[in-house]
Amino acid sequence: MRFDSHIERLLTASSRLVNRLTPGLDGGRPIVVPTGTALSAAVGEALTFDGRTPSVPSAGAQVVVGIVPDVRRVFEAASDGDITRAAQLTNDLLGRTGARPQLNPDPDGTWHLHFHGASNHFGPGWAAGLAAGLTMALGVDEIGRLGVCSADRCDRVYVDSSRNGTRQFCSTRCQNRMKAAAHRARQK
Ligand SMILES: [Zn+2]
Repeated sequence: MRFDSHIERLLTASSRLVNRLTPGLDGGRPIVVPTGTALSAAVGEALTFDGRTPSVPSAGAQVVVGIVPDVRRVFEAASDGDITRAAQLTNDLLGRTGARPQLNPDPDGTWHLHFHGASNHFGPGWAAGLAAGLTMALGVDEIGRLGVCSADRCDRVYVDSSRNGTRQFCSTRCQNRMKAAAHRARQK
């Protein structure tokens, strides 16, 4: 994948949030969207990296949750190959979240690109980061890396980090399910 690890994290966070917080089906199982404290916990889980789970204030969770339906629409447009729509949705997210680029220093003296939101509070910061991740995926023509599961009775999303970019399913569970179904169809 041509994304650097920062962008890849933002995209991974986007796909986790969409999969946990938008209604639909996960391999035939209906999604139960959490509310209240369970919602904050789910957001924290989706934003866990290197074993570190952030504690999510409920106001912050609401800000992040507020953009998740549009993040999902970007994955759907990408999956349909509708780049214009994906770009328009992403530009709208950039405007709404007030995302602004900033260079942050690394310990080795180099600088890397980060995005901040309208404020540095948890919710606005992450919302802007998610929008920025999508922007960078589209801006380097890697929109094809975002997809919606093509298995039956599933609409969860994924970020394809395979070398040749041929991923079709959200999980190995869906992949195995479809493989088994194809196998059964051949037996008939
Ligand atoms: Zn799936």
